[in-house]
Amino acid sequence: MDGMNSNGVGTRQSFDSNRLSHAYIVAGGLAETLSMVAVCSGVGGTKPCMLCAHCDKALRHIHPDITVVSKLPDKREIVVEQIRELKKDVIVVPNEADKKAYIINEADSMNTSAQNAFLQILEEPPKHAVFILKTENPVALLPTVRSRCMELKDRHEPDTLDSAAVDMAIEFFAALEQGNATLIAFMFRLEKLEKNVFSAFLSAAREQVLLNLRATMSGDIGISRETLTRTDKILIRAGEMHDLNVGLGHISGMICASLLRAES
Ligand SMILES: [Zn+2]
Repeated sequence: MDGMNSNGVGTRQSFDSNRLSHAYIVAGGLAETLSMVAVCSGVGGTKPCMLCAHCDKALRHIHPDITVVSKLPDKREIVVEQIRELKKDVIVVPNEADKKAYIINEADSMNTSAQNAFLQILEEPPKHAVFILKTENPVALLPTVRSRCMELKDRHEPDTLDSAAVDMAIEFFAALEQGNATLIAFMFRLEKLEKNVFSAFLSAAREQVLLNLRATMSGDIGISRETLTRTDKILIRAGEMHDLNVGLGHISGMICASLLRAES
């Protein structure tokens, strides 16, 4: 049951906006992805599609329907006034998207009165609202708040596994830039990974897609936006195959075949 919440929903398959819950507790980069899922119009059926105007604005942190609540610079906690502001805002219908997403950074830094105010919102959440509580420490939240949220955990142990996976993800994008021979050599290494490292690699690679997409906007990367969005779709498919216990050799082969460039 590692990485599964009480509803039996694992991390990866929850990116379907038709099944979006109204509140999540997540760690790390997943919060941003989830907020994109909430506003995305789903070009081609996958969310976040990375292609629609909503995804574009979300990536540039200018989507009017994504609000981030963080500790004020002079405060050690998220205070109740901030949650009261949120409460006023949340009843207003979305500006552009079908949903409004609220990311609460370091959600465990909400003090008790802030959490109680937040609980009132969670008890009767407007249909268009999605709350994303970002925290590495969910046990610090009130049990009443926690029980109303779906907890999404990464399936792997953090730390050493994470850094190995991030290194692989960075090498993956380097191989993507360097062309077929490097890519094929990389895939042979990929298929020899432990299953849990492979799973961590897929998550890390998807986070790298987001980072690289930002870099393409500032023009300092050689991979095109089209290649990145296509790569993300391939990674999603690889994750689905992995969930179905397809062997790593087959999955690596699929990734490789889908990414090989026609070299003239
Ligand atoms: Zn989109």
